[in-house]
Amino acid sequence: MGGTFDPIHLGHLAAARVAMECAELDRVLFVPSGTPPHRGPAVASGAQRLEMSRLAIDSESAFEVSDVEIRRGGTSYTTDTLRELKRERPGDQLFLVLGWDAARQFSSWREPEEVRRLATIVVVSRPGSESPDATMLVAAGLDPAKTVLCVRPTPDISGSALRRAIAAGEPVRDLAPAVERYIAKHRLYMDNRDVGC
Ligand code: ATP
Ligand code: MG
Repeated sequence: MGGTFDPIHLGHLAAARVAMECAELDRVLFVPSGTPPHRGPAVASGAQRLEMSRLAIDSESAFEVSDVEIRRGGTSYTTDTLRELKRERPGDQLFLVLGWDAARQFSSWREPEEVRRLATIVVVSRPGSESPDATMLVAAGLDPAKTVLCVRPTPDISGSALRRAIAAGEPVRDLAPAVERYIAKHRLYMDNRDVGC
């Protein structure tokens, strides 16, 4: 499961649990991105997003964090990441977990057919986006017969809303307590100019 994780929040953890159950996965690997190709850079640094991800998954033995994209640096393309993960973990069958807002952009990705070849795509519905069905998967360039579709509720949380709330000085829930403490300690997202979108 990739993302900017800027910051990682309870919606990400819920989506990972939904994907594990629905696609019968053994583990979920959270992969914070380097520079994302489709959007502005993250507000927090790669090292900070990695650390927050590690703090967030702390008590879940089926969750892991990978620094593969941040270590590689530069713009992160999922196709490169999947190739690298295949090399690192030759015995593993790879699945790519995407929220529907991310999955609907799939055909604009670099080498989408290579991504589909390297991993089975798992699409999780996302509050605020219409619930995906087979026709919508086809429109997004995904083959419904080869995609695992998980339409299950997850909390309506987004990184952008959290960044805005923190910058406005509003109290935030929706974060793992250790991540909340890390953000407060490092005064992340508190400066309005850095909020991003
Ligand atoms: P931002 O608002 O900065 O884009 P975000 O909350 O969308 O933050 P991302 O890092 O962009 O977080 O998302 C990583 C992945 O997690 C994407 O595939 C996204 O669809 C999925 N995701 C994020 N939040 C949820 C949620 N509440 N429910 C289901 N999937 C989610
Ligand atoms: Mg997002």
